[in-house]
Amino acid sequence: MQYTPFGHTGLHVSRLGFGSMRLPMTSANGKSVVDEDQSIAMIHRAFEAGVNYIDTAFFYCDGLSEITVGKALKGWREKIILSTKFPFDKPFRETLETQLKKLDTDHIDFYHFHGIGDWFFTHERHDEAVTGALRAKEEGLIRHLSFSFHDKPQVMMKLIDVGIFSSVLCQYNLLDRSNEEGLAYAKERGLGTAVMGPIGGGRISGMPPVVAHRLGVRTKSSAELALRFVMTNPNVNVALSGMSTMKQVEENIETASNAAPLSPAELEGINAAMEENRRMSELYCTGCNYCAPHCPQGIVIPKIFQLMNYHRIYRITDYAREQYNAIGTAPWSKGHKADECIECGVCEEHCPQKIEIRQQLKDCHATLAMASR
Ligand code: SF4
Ligand code: SF4
Repeated sequence: MQYTPFGHTGLHVSRLGFGSMRLPMTSANGKSVVDEDQSIAMIHRAFEAGVNYIDTAFFYCDGLSEITVGKALKGWREKIILSTKFPFDKPFRETLETQLKKLDTDHIDFYHFHGIGDWFFTHERHDEAVTGALRAKEEGLIRHLSFSFHDKPQVMMKLIDVGIFSSVLCQYNLLDRSNEEGLAYAKERGLGTAVMGPIGGGRISGMPPVVAHRLGVRTKSSAELALRFVMTNPNVNVALSGMSTMKQVEENIETASNAAPLSPAELEGINAAMEENRRMSELYCTGCNYCAPHCPQGIVIPKIFQLMNYHRIYRITDYAREQYNAIGTAPWSKGHKADECIECGVCEEHCPQKIEIRQQLKDCHATLAMASR
């Protein structure tokens, strides 16, 4: 495992972090619950391989992620850096105390204001949360205050300049490099930097190997490339991967332990391909999935946008169309296509990127629903 200083915190963090947002689920008494045995085995395997940063949040896995993480930390707590997040719509102190109980610990190493943006400055809970967090820090319940971020890149710098945060967690991957400048700024200001979404569970946040090879990039899989890409950026300290299977854990460990950074020629190939991405700012879907759970039609919005990016950016149109046509018909591709949208607009209320989802879905369907050639 490779390690790096985590900003000016004095801590050294493994370059791969365990994201606990997609723990394996099972069913018990007709309810979907975290498969604790499997999850704990996966987390322990990662710890044994040297992963020393684990991230969770109040709402992950229907609120069960923190409980499972707390159980997995038994016997490991002093060696592991624990990160979780405060949901801004809740009372601060009560929520923190609940989370400490769920995690069964007396302190949280990095406590994030969850998914904040420009609204943070005027939010009705701003003063309560900031005062409460600084007090909790004095009491030792929180070691560091941090924020996770979903807004326009320039807002990240504004938040960093508040001066109370020790680290930042943001989206960053091959398809979404919008926070690159913000990450550099964070590093310059001494903040630790963690990124999420380098490889989604089952979601390719990289590029298919066939495209990578065309660009002259050596890679075994899109997941490996996605992680290597993120780890090549010296302004990224820890890449969080939301792992759902032991296979993913093993693959990520192997990549994080052995990965050579991408060579200048490989990066050049990727940069050339991504330059086009930059010009397509109208479809900068980060894959955060905040929209899809609210869709009454079960439309797999981020997946559809990702396929559209494959068509637009990499020109792998046949592949994108095949994958699109499989949605809702192949057993491995659940959900519904864009043409089932009833234009209720609920998704757009939840999109931090302010994407005009309804219009984009129409364009996606018109392009992708044609027969593969
Ligand atoms: S506008 Fe369409 S995609 Fe968005 S929530 Fe409504 S039905 Fe779903
Ligand atoms: S459309 Fe918006 S809310 Fe939905 S996944 Fe993309 S960025 Fe997230």
